[in-house]
Amino acid sequence: MTPFADPGSGHTSNGPVPLQLKLNYQHSHGWLVDFLEGLRRGEAWAMRCSSCNTSWCPPHRQCPRDRATMEWHRLSGLGTLLQATAYEGTLPFQTEVQKITLGMVHLDGAENAMLARLGVDMNAAVAGLRVQLACAPEPITHPAQAAWFLPETETP
Ligand SMILES: [Zn+2]
Repeated sequence: MTPFADPGSGHTSNGPVPLQLKLNYQHSHGWLVDFLEGLRRGEAWAMRCSSCNTSWCPPHRQCPRDRATMEWHRLSGLGTLLQATAYEGTLPFQTEVQKITLGMVHLDGAENAMLARLGVDMNAAVAGLRVQLACAPEPITHPAQAAWFLPETETP
């Protein structure tokens, strides 16, 4: 293996080379705009199949069962926590280290489950907990961070 030159230091190394990549760009929400902007308002928007009537949230552009067309409709935002995990770290595009609890939430009326942040610590994030979609605390640096659930009993 050929060693990398370490610019400025005058010596070579076989170890990892620290690199930094910065990229700024505008990314459209595309066909998910109703879902993602709804999350920012604390609203759960799903897509319902025009053929089998199954509702999906997160939405699918076509029904995974029969490839039929879909129509938007709003769910209550109430759901059930299926499982959770927690860690201390940063959210994408943020620098503040924080305690983060993530969970898989099955929204009432939806066939599938969604990954979301939970406004509770790991001790309270038990399977079966009833939760309600709510407006996520700022900053939100990626649209998916707006998926924020609180225990049903703590929602306004
Ligand atoms: Zn279908």
